[in-house]
Amino acid sequence: MAKPNQTSPGRHFLQIPGPSNVPDRVLRAIDRPVIDHRGPEFADFALGLFQRLGPLFGTTSKIVIFPSSGTGAWEAAIANTLSPGDRILMFETGQFATLWRNVAVNIGLDVIWVEGDWRHGIDVADMEARLRDDKEHAIKAVMAVHNDTSTGTVSDIEAIRRAMDVASHPALLMVDTISSLASMPYTQDGWGVDVTIAASQKGLMLPPGLAFTGISEKALAAYQTATCPKAYFAWGPMLANNEKGFFPYTPATNLLYGLDEALTMLAEEGLENVFARHNRLAEATRRAVRGWGLEICCQDEDGYSNSVTAVLTPEGTDSDALRKIILENFNMSLGTGLGRMQGRQFRIGHVGDFNDLMLAGALSGIEMGLSLAGVPHKKGGITAALDYLTETAG
Ligand code: PLP
Repeated sequence: MAKPNQTSPGRHFLQIPGPSNVPDRVLRAIDRPVIDHRGPEFADFALGLFQRLGPLFGTTSKIVIFPSSGTGAWEAAIANTLSPGDRILMFETGQFATLWRNVAVNIGLDVIWVEGDWRHGIDVADMEARLRDDKEHAIKAVMAVHNDTSTGTVSDIEAIRRAMDVASHPALLMVDTISSLASMPYTQDGWGVDVTIAASQKGLMLPPGLAFTGISEKALAAYQTATCPKAYFAWGPMLANNEKGFFPYTPATNLLYGLDEALTMLAEEGLENVFARHNRLAEATRRAVRGWGLEICCQDEDGYSNSVTAVLTPEGTDSDALRKIILENFNMSLGTGLGRMQGRQFRIGHVGDFNDLMLAGALSGIEMGLSLAGVPHKKGGITAALDYLTETAG
């Protein structure tokens, strides 16, 4: 039996939904000497970098970069705009909505938590009704996960904005785009989002370690009165330092080099093409899953994720045993089932620096693994995916 990872010849297949594969160009860009982060060379570099982020977020507002994982930007979004005891509205779309809720609870917010079955996006009609009922405007923010990576389910942020407008509700709209930015269409300004949260390790094709926050004018105004304690993640000192190309503390210099290169790669391909590529590879993946006779976790056809497909394994099978067999035999990592989905599903990441033959290899490993693990399935998933890739090639 082959040994996992480093000891196997050839490349490891990293098919988790982030961290995604880091392209060689980005790795090479990171592999440079660190420079003085308080010197003129750094300032010039950082100022250029800040300017290049806007189109990706679809905003002309400020975007800050924290040396942190995405969870830090969750905390920052809350701490900078809200005060202890403030009421917020959240929908349970999966594990990541749940974890963000936990951050809000720990900070001391009053969370209205609308339970869900982890197979659908946010129920926008329900949200609108709740906002209409909130005549006193006690709800200070709606917090939504655009693409819940645990279930491969996308919520319609544009429709959420419309619902908030129809209800004439002034709450802030905060959106987690950690597994959708740079892989699915998103526009902070176009959709009237106040705070956009993102991270480096998925569509941006970077290693983990950078978190981003897009901040609208309305969010900036909320910052002036928000009383949640904050220090490391405070927007004020960050924005003041960023004006001159600096950070209030030591930035992750080499990850910023990588970011610069990743932005160049995204611009070279063109964002629309990046989105189309993700859409096509995701559709091929879904055809494979259906071909195997397995069930896609997401039950909203309009809500299928283009960065991750979560696949339910049949009753009585252990999805983690399947993942283990695939890792040991084919040197491929698939995403585990998270939270209540543990043991019940595996997740195929198709995000970032990824192409047709990488997908073909990944799906082959899964089909072989299903047989080896004795998971009941039909043959033909790969053929369905390859037929689709062939039909839509070029
Ligand atoms: N939100 C989403 C949608 C995620 O997918 C993740 C991580 O995968 C997080 C938040 C948490 O980010 P991090 O693990 O970088 O702290």
